[in-house]
Amino acid sequence: MKSIIRDISLADKGKQKIEWVRRNMPILRSLEEDFRATAPFKGVRVVVSVHLEAKTAYLAKLFAIGGGEVSVTGSNPLSTQDDVAAGLVADGLDVYAWYNSTKEEYEEHLNLALGYKPNIIIDDGGDLVNLLHTTRKELIPHIMGGCEETTTGVLRLKAMEKEGVLKFPMVAVNNANCKYLFDNRYGTGQSVWDGINRTTNLIVAGKNVVVAGYGWCGKGIAMRAKGFGADVIVTEIDPIKAAEAVMDGYKVMKMTEAAKVGDVFITVTGCRDVITQEHFKYMKDGAILCNAGHFDVEVSVEQLEKLAVEKQEQRKNIMGYKMDNGRWINLLAEGRLVNLAAGDGHPAEIMDMSFALQALSAKYMLKNFRNLGNKVIDVPAEIDIAVAEMKLKSWGVKIDKLSGEQKKYLNSWAE
Ligand code: NAD
Ligand code: SAH
Repeated sequence: MKSIIRDISLADKGKQKIEWVRRNMPILRSLEEDFRATAPFKGVRVVVSVHLEAKTAYLAKLFAIGGGEVSVTGSNPLSTQDDVAAGLVADGLDVYAWYNSTKEEYEEHLNLALGYKPNIIIDDGGDLVNLLHTTRKELIPHIMGGCEETTTGVLRLKAMEKEGVLKFPMVAVNNANCKYLFDNRYGTGQSVWDGINRTTNLIVAGKNVVVAGYGWCGKGIAMRAKGFGADVIVTEIDPIKAAEAVMDGYKVMKMTEAAKVGDVFITVTGCRDVITQEHFKYMKDGAILCNAGHFDVEVSVEQLEKLAVEKQEQRKNIMGYKMDNGRWINLLAEGRLVNLAAGDGHPAEIMDMSFALQALSAKYMLKNFRNLGNKVIDVPAEIDIAVAEMKLKSWGVKIDKLSGEQKKYLNSWAE
């Protein structure tokens, strides 16, 4: 049986969404032209497990246009858009995903997508890699390698590499300059606020916004909160990042202190138990909590559920929890990535860069996998630079070039 989706009658709506992002992803459009002419993925089986919304659909189509045999699944039970999945199926791709899948369905969909015996995997957070190293080991001989999209996924791959258990090479797409400097910072910075604002429809100006984690994502979220007129508080565990936040003009304090004054809390650490029962009990009535980091364990939803004396849906994607002191705490999108579970994720122009890195890194893997070892490798600098150049070209921005004399000067020590 091919494709498991909710409703094929949504295909036209999905195709419209895919066409809109295509028109706003100029780098992928130029790769489309190239892949159509050169078919670099001819005869190659590619499995894509990334948040299944329109930009991911365009990436999957790109592999198919490049000659690949592609199967697609999601990377989070709440981020799949059923119309987009239908649009892809109508365009002839095989898709296994639907919105709001149970844990079992989500895993079944990943397994079905893997049933294609992939040669290349495009992973986002390590779900495919995990299955391939545990319950689907028999598929490893078919794998050439893959690419990982996000910070937490790369951390896990590095842990596997260190333990010597990684069985094929993986490109750490997240660690390319054209990924984290743009996607994590400006992409998360915008899309997290898009998710929060469209879900709550409340004002940000004048509020105390608490950002937990001042990494690349946290920097973007804090910067945009400031732009909206919020007072921003940062919590951190790393003294250097904390010092950076102070000099960027934010208040830095422990979460136990921030809990008492915050109006909106956003976790983006990749860690667990960042906001727990020791914080819930001090929060203001009406406090809004959400997460933008990898898993739904940054805000301890389990403890919130246990502490609550009453629970009530306040609005779509907002669950209210009443504490025994009578105060309500509101959790957005079940504590899952708020920008994707309650929004459309990063803007098209951002994913244009991230997915160009994915497509070009997959092509690189295809050519070079035999020489890479079972290692986590960086995106080659030529690809990173090429993506930046294509982005500048799409904006019509031209920059200067070093002269021979300047190059010499920069590489000398005597003058
Ligand atoms: P990063 O490593 O740059 O930053 C994480 C920061 O959190 C670090 O500064 C670290 O010191 C801090 N931190 C860790 N534990 C903490 C704790 N208990 N309390 C306070 N601070 C803590 O990572 P990043 O690129 O910013 O990514 C963060 C998370 O967001 C990852 O899980 C990543 O996979 C995810 N991510 C989400 C999106 C999205 O679209 N929502 C996009 C990119 C990355
Ligand atoms: N499996 C994880 C996924 C990590 S999410 C989970 O449980 O949800 C973080 C990644 O989502 C980021 O690295 C970013 O590149 C990606 N992302 C953000 N917006 C996106 C979008 N519109 N489409 C596809 N991926 C997106």
